[in-house]
Amino acid sequence: MPRRPRAPRERAHPLELTEAEMHALVENALRRVVAHLRELPGQPMHDTAGGRKRSRALVGRLPEHGRPGDDVLRQLFDHVIPASLNTASPGYLGYIPGGGIFPAAVADFVADATNRYVGIWQAGPGPVAVELAVLRWFRELVGFPSSGGGVLTTGGSMANLLAVVSARRDRLPADFLRGVLYASDQVHHSVVKAALVAGFPEERVRALPSDGAFRLRLDALDEHVARDRAAGLQPFMLVASAGTTHTGAVDDLGACADAAREHGLWFHVDAAYGGFFLLTEHGRSLLAGIHRADSVTLDPHKGLFLPYGTGCVLVRDVETLRRAHRVQADYLPPPRGDDGLWDFADLSPELSRDWRGLRVWLPLQLHGAAAFRAALNEKLALARLLHAELAARRWIDVVAPPQLSLLAFRARAPDLPPDEADALTRRLLSGVNQQQRVFLSGTSVRGRPVLRACVLSFRTHEDRIRLLLEDLDRVGRELGLAGP
Ligand SMILES: *Cc1c(COP(=O)(O)O)cnc(C)c1O
Repeated sequence: MPRRPRAPRERAHPLELTEAEMHALVENALRRVVAHLRELPGQPMHDTAGGRKRSRALVGRLPEHGRPGDDVLRQLFDHVIPASLNTASPGYLGYIPGGGIFPAAVADFVADATNRYVGIWQAGPGPVAVELAVLRWFRELVGFPSSGGGVLTTGGSMANLLAVVSARRDRLPADFLRGVLYASDQVHHSVVKAALVAGFPEERVRALPSDGAFRLRLDALDEHVARDRAAGLQPFMLVASAGTTHTGAVDDLGACADAAREHGLWFHVDAAYGGFFLLTEHGRSLLAGIHRADSVTLDPHKGLFLPYGTGCVLVRDVETLRRAHRVQADYLPPPRGDDGLWDFADLSPELSRDWRGLRVWLPLQLHGAAAFRAALNEKLALARLLHAELAARRWIDVVAPPQLSLLAFRARAPDLPPDEADALTRRLLSGVNQQQRVFLSGTSVRGRPVLRACVLSFRTHEDRIRLLLEDLDRVGRELGLAGP
């Protein structure tokens, strides 16, 4: 005789939801998510004022007893999520925009609810195969041989770290402190951080000067390598950028590969921002030579529009990654042979982790590569459109035209001393952001401030670029830069 279900509070195992409870919770969350996404284009770009006070108000005591899901979700959507930069908005052009395509959220839901273990191949041949398929697609995209492989990380910073550690292990003795790493002065700070975390003192990282298009200058590399060798140091690694965060510059990867070979350096390409433009014709020609790298960083949470927490490092020879990260333990299965079925736990510091591969695999299955290629081509076209419009304004100086989908510019005020012109550039940036329709971030290029616009959200289309131009013109007029 069937027993009557007990009310949740008196149930022996409250952590195990009934089917009705699962439906109620998920449908409630889904309703709020869909409403949130519907309102997204009109939501303000940032609501971070009073953040300290608001965040204090949100930190309560650890509850001993639960409360209804509706309450919790209402608090999240009404008070927690809005207190932020609106990084998912179509108007978000700051830093390097992330993504957040909906099917990836569904993949995370499935992955978390089924909770399979993917650290070791034998524990989940099915789920691991899905992640291996993703890594194989990425390897083919980059053009690495079949000896190549890699691992999905939480982001580009971790990917750069694994690359530096692999290079260190491959090219330097156990006593590695004389090793020197070279990159341009435009390189992402995560490369410097990776070198520090990998145990190098900061003075072992050489920031080489960049040229007029913000690309690494290889003549400077030759000089520094010779000088460092003469001083008894051990040059071991060259890091090139395929899309810098400053200005979007893509180093000459073919020439960098030649130089790295000539000097016997491990060649890493940080393609966290630019890598997935390899899906487009323009990207393929601009990133030509990337297949000659020893390692490459990709960031699917940028150019594949996936949610934060999805990065990737690829290496030309997967053994280099394994040698740097593998440690045997008696309670683990013996190492696998060379059959292309890797234990992810041997390729990074992580043992247990989320099933990241599904978050990449499911959207690609649903949409196919063509949809991503089209979206990336759209971003390239939008950046060119924005560039053409800015270049037509006499009161704007384009400092870095788009090589991919990122450009940098400043106010042109030739009659003012540089510090006053710089102040106008800063006011232009804050004035545009105050309009709450578009968010830009700034940086400093050769010591002077600039505004940057990076078009990489899958939600950004021409209408939003037009809003940006309207806001720029309005603020430009207020500052007396643009004509009436
Ligand atoms: C974003 C970025 C990184 C860092 O990646 P995270 O995913 O934020 O850790 C590294 N290099 C470049 C060029 C980037 O654009």
